[in-house]
Amino acid sequence: MKKVVVIGEILVEVMADTIGNGFASPQALTGPYPSGAPAIFADQAAKFGQPVAIISAVGNDDFGRLNLARLKQDGVDISGVHVDADYPTGSAFVRYRADRNRDFVFNIKHSACGKLNASPAADSILASADHLHIMGSSLASDEFIALNIKAAKKIRSRGGTVSFDPNVRKEIPSTSHIAGAMHEFIELTDLFLPSGAELTMLTAAQTPPDAAAELIRKGVQAIVHKNGAEGAVFYGPNETHRVHAFPVVEVDPTGAGDCFGGAFTALWLRGTPAPEALQFAAAAGARAVAARGPMEGSSTFAQIAEFMQLAERGGLPA
Ligand code: ATP
Ligand code: MG
Repeated sequence: MKKVVVIGEILVEVMADTIGNGFASPQALTGPYPSGAPAIFADQAAKFGQPVAIISAVGNDDFGRLNLARLKQDGVDISGVHVDADYPTGSAFVRYRADRNRDFVFNIKHSACGKLNASPAADSILASADHLHIMGSSLASDEFIALNIKAAKKIRSRGGTVSFDPNVRKEIPSTSHIAGAMHEFIELTDLFLPSGAELTMLTAAQTPPDAAAELIRKGVQAIVHKNGAEGAVFYGPNETHRVHAFPVVEVDPTGAGDCFGGAFTALWLRGTPAPEALQFAAAAGARAVAARGPMEGSSTFAQIAEFMQLAERGGLPA
């Protein structure tokens, strides 16, 4: 089994109980939930039996303990997570708008996971990893960009692979510097996992099939274009496959892309044919949106199998 590593934020998420615009007034909240896009990705991949480690940091506080307990329980290697004595665990407050967009208030940059912590454990994880997953939301500082680039080059130079999910968030400023780094990451990417407009963000071509062809010409092996309730499309050098989204009631879309990505990457690494991997990943994404809390809907194989059987019998709630 190939060993996966992801470098990036571990957060708690606190969710507004009501639909509306942002947090400019006092309101009812539910949380903390374990979160952070790389952490959700790792959690889902681990639940699919993939050896996966996260390099990150949390504070010496309950938010950190809550996350570490969950990741450990689900099989993620947390030996590369530094427990910081000075900074608190990162957080994200999220509120859905009526138009289904989201407003976030993040505390990442000035939290425990906002800075790099070199450690022998993190070094040994990077030295033995077969696959690096790069999460765009984790590229908020130059040092994280540099570490991901260095790790991607090293892992590829010894025959390993890299997946990349741009995971662009409007609240995380996209400077031209980050845009430049995105181009560098694409050059190092074997499996690209964009959603929506992220597919054409880095290409001259402006339609999804043309953009996919352009990226494949540049050396990307496989692209999965995630499109929320519209499902997803796989593009390879000689094949295109589509999967419909499973019909579920969308309770909380945060984390769908990360669960989809964690599931797909785990299957892709073990050579599962693309159509089958797409089905499983779409089921993982659907289960994620049907659960409240960003990591609460990550799935084991048994849960996916049960879910797919239910879908086949037409038993999912419409
Ligand atoms: P994230 O908010 O985590 O960044 P994303 O934009 O990267 O998400 P999405 O396209 O929203 O990713 O979701 C990934 C996959 O999950 C979709 O391609 C789809 O298969 C599944 N999915 C997402 N939303 C729904 C939904 N409402 N119903 C069923 N399946 C869904
Ligand atoms: Mg995403």
